[in-house]
Amino acid sequence: MTVYRPVVRVVEPIAVSEGAGVRLRRSIATQDLDYLDPFLLFDHFGSDDPRDYLAGFPLHPHRGIETVTYMLDGQVAHRDSIGNSGTIGAGDVQWMTAGSGILHEEMPKAGPRRLAGFQIWVNLPARLKMTGPRYQDVPASRIPEVGRADGVSVRVVAGTVDGVKGAVKEIHAEPEYLDVAMPPGRSFEQPVPRGHTALAYLFEGEARFGGSPGEDGTPLSSTRLAVFGDGEALSVRTGRSPARFLLLSGKPLGEPVARYGPFVMNTREEIQQALRELREGTFIR
Ligand code: MN
Repeated sequence: MTVYRPVVRVVEPIAVSEGAGVRLRRSIATQDLDYLDPFLLFDHFGSDDPRDYLAGFPLHPHRGIETVTYMLDGQVAHRDSIGNSGTIGAGDVQWMTAGSGILHEEMPKAGPRRLAGFQIWVNLPARLKMTGPRYQDVPASRIPEVGRADGVSVRVVAGTVDGVKGAVKEIHAEPEYLDVAMPPGRSFEQPVPRGHTALAYLFEGEARFGGSPGEDGTPLSSTRLAVFGDGEALSVRTGRSPARFLLLSGKPLGEPVARYGPFVMNTREEIQQALRELREGTFIR
């Protein structure tokens, strides 16, 4: 018999101002929830008002992590210290493995439409923290969409749904990153490897999360992050309302976490080293 994962924690995102003054909603990397191994940060940005985001994220470093930007709407211009530049638009994903280090800027562009999307940080194991930087830039057209007969549709950023493999590959955490849209009155099930951390971020509508398909589960209205306990699969049901949520899972590292702003290493000494290299101009390898 399949063991379905229960919801063990519900997180209400908090409003924060980040970068040069971008207003966003943060669920992971807060006082209440430092990290959910291997996920180090979960930010949801979205606004119709350019004043909430135009200041952007001017030049800043990263080391020891992967930053993943997934856009629902609007555009973010990106440029970095190793010569990459481009624009991430609606439906696109950028999976950036910062590794030993990059310096980059992420600048949202003004309208005409709203800006909306997500940035998560995924940890790297000690042996890969100083790996060379790598990008997987995937345009919306290359992200597979699985349409089920019952009207549930899933954009597969990473992981596998109904045998369809996601666009982003070869990531240490073996992540699953799904954008799931459910009409009213439907049920969605997805296997998740035992021991992997799993969470859902409900950003539109209402649904019941966790438990077996025949159980009530935990009723949630947007916007909430639900953390699942262990098990082999998870289940989500809609009632009168439709729902749209991200489903994330990944293999925990179980290693010590030393974090300071955009650097996440294993020890304080490694953080000090990153700061020293930044001062001395030797940060970029
Ligand atoms: Mn960044």
